[in-house]
Amino acid sequence: MGEVKVVHIDIGSCEGCGVSALRALASVKGKGIVYYTPYLLKQLHEIPKEFDIALVTGAVCMNDEKVISRLKEIRENARIVIAFGSCSAVGGILRFARGGQEPRPEHRTFLPINSVIKVDYSIPGCPPPPPVLQSFMRFLTSGNEERLKLFRAIAEKRKLSGFDLIDDVVLTGICIGCGACEISCPTKAIRLVDGRPDLIPEKCIRCGTCYVRCPRASQLLLVRGGSA
Ligand code: SF4
Ligand code: SF4
Repeated sequence: MGEVKVVHIDIGSCEGCGVSALRALASVKGKGIVYYTPYLLKQLHEIPKEFDIALVTGAVCMNDEKVISRLKEIRENARIVIAFGSCSAVGGILRFARGGQEPRPEHRTFLPINSVIKVDYSIPGCPPPPPVLQSFMRFLTSGNEERLKLFRAIAEKRKLSGFDLIDDVVLTGICIGCGACEISCPTKAIRLVDGRPDLIPEKCIRCGTCYVRCPRASQLLLVRGGSA
């Protein structure tokens, strides 16, 4: 892959993912990567017509036709679409939105962007640490498909959370008690009790980080893909 043009488009994140992307991409800029700093949807006309990668942050508001149609426009213009961060990839904390808040009380349903457009790769995390995106870009620009398989498999998922981890890994008895889920959880919703993960449901923001970091669950994702 020659020079890669990356455009970061924010459709309504808390900006945590934006800061992470900025830090990651600033450090790889110039190494075959041209990075266009965050664009809001209303600035889409400023985006260069030809670009390779759309890095999308934030979940899509299903009560906003304009956002949905702009997202489809982005899909048409980008060769590769990456859902960056848990809200964009699997819904994350925005799944808890109930509407009724000013200035847009009618905005009540937020879903991962693959509910509306095809996504090529998803990188969950609340936010994903910059080194994850740096490694991802290295694998992508060097054509290392093997290392991209997991991100491709996650792009097929519409939800991923501590509940899925308990269902798929702990209750099925394949957990090895490594503790990676506990360490990676940003809200401390998982703790190991007698070597087995226990979920505190009200603390889980459905970011999916534990699932992706779990060696067993990530194996399931690779084997079963979107149906895991
Ligand atoms: S348990 Fe923690 S890491 Fe897992 S989805 Fe919930 S908040 Fe995210
Ligand atoms: S990361 Fe996976 S294998 Fe390790 S303790 Fe958590 S559920 Fe078990």
